[in-house]
Formats: sequence, structure tokens, C-alpha cells
Amino acid sequence: AELTLVDIDEAVRNALEVVSARARSVGVTPHFAPEGSPPFVPAVAVKLEQVLINLIVNALDAVEGAAQGAVTVERESAGARLTVRVSDNGPGISRELMPRISEPFFTTKISGGGLGLGLSISNAIMAEFGGDIVFSSAPGGGTVATVSMPVAPPQR
Ligand code: ADP
Ligand code: MG
Repeated sequence: AELTLVDIDEAVRNALEVVSARARSVGVTPHFAPEGSPPFVPAVAVKLEQVLINLIVNALDAVEGAAQGAVTVERESAGARLTVRVSDNGPGISRELMPRISEPFFTTKISGGGLGLGLSISNAIMAEFGGDIVFSSAPGGGTVATVSMPVAPPQR
């Protein structure tokens, strides 16, 4: 597909809008307070938004039922790359499960919902944009999903 220059902050806001009803039902307001002007990334907006939606929904699922659930989205660009971090303070991902979470149909969500396709699709989409998704998690210490991708060269 043809890549266009996508305003990352707009993509995050659109994703947050899509998940707003789910966030309300979990009782969490995802935090997103970017500073400065947003980087533009070569991407397909709806696909990039789909990746963000998948990661934010996973974060919301992880904190569902928690008394003090929190989900945060942050973006920062360092040189030629942009990173977007989706963090939650849910149970985290065990070392044993970590290598398997991006496999198609892998899910731990037994009671309805989880198809286990979100992360495999998200990885395929990010590969199209020259990017990737890296997870880090300390058991009991929440999860951080870090999306990384090239930033558009300065426009002139
Ligand atoms: P699904 O959400 O349908 O289960 P995904 O591909 O989105 O499928 O995620 C696969 C699995 O990865 C989840 O079932 C869960 O076990 C794990 N996972 C993903 N994100 C998180 C997270 N933020 N916290 C805890 N576990 C997670
Ligand atoms: Mg999912």
C-alpha cells in the first residue's frame, strides 16, 4: 500500500477514541500528554491506528478489575526513529510466555474475546513500515510495549 506521512499524535488520539468505550467499561482513562510538535511517520494511517488500538486494548485487558489500573501512551523521537510506548500496570508477562505472545492464535484470554491474532497482525503491519514492537515486562511490574519505526525525513 502507498505510504503517506502520518501525524503520530493524531494516530494515537484516533486510536484512543476508538477504544474509549472499552476504557470506560474498564474504568481507566488512558493517559496521553505529548509535548512539542508531533513527528510524522511514513505509514498507512488506519493500519498504524490498528496497531495502537491492539496494544491499548491489550493494556486495558491487563488492568481490568485492578483497583488502581493505569494505561499510558508516550511518544518520543530520537534521531531517525520514533518510539511509541504503551504501558500498563497489569500483571505483566511471564518469562515463559513472552516468546509466544506474538504467535498467531496465542491467547491467555479464555473467557471470550481473545482470538490471539492482535499481536501477530500488529507485527506484520509494523514490518511494512520498517518498524517493530518490543515487549518488556517484570512479573508483577506491568508491561511496556514499545513500537519503533523510522521518522519521515524533514519536509522541504
Ligand atoms: P489476544 O489479545 O486476543 O489474547 P494478542 O495477540 O493481542 O491476542 O495478545 C496475545 C497474548 O499476549 C494475550 O492473550 C496476553 O496473554 C499477552 N499480552 C499481550 N499484551 C499484554 C499486556 N499488556 N499485559 C499482559 N499480557 C499481555
Ligand atoms: Mg489483543
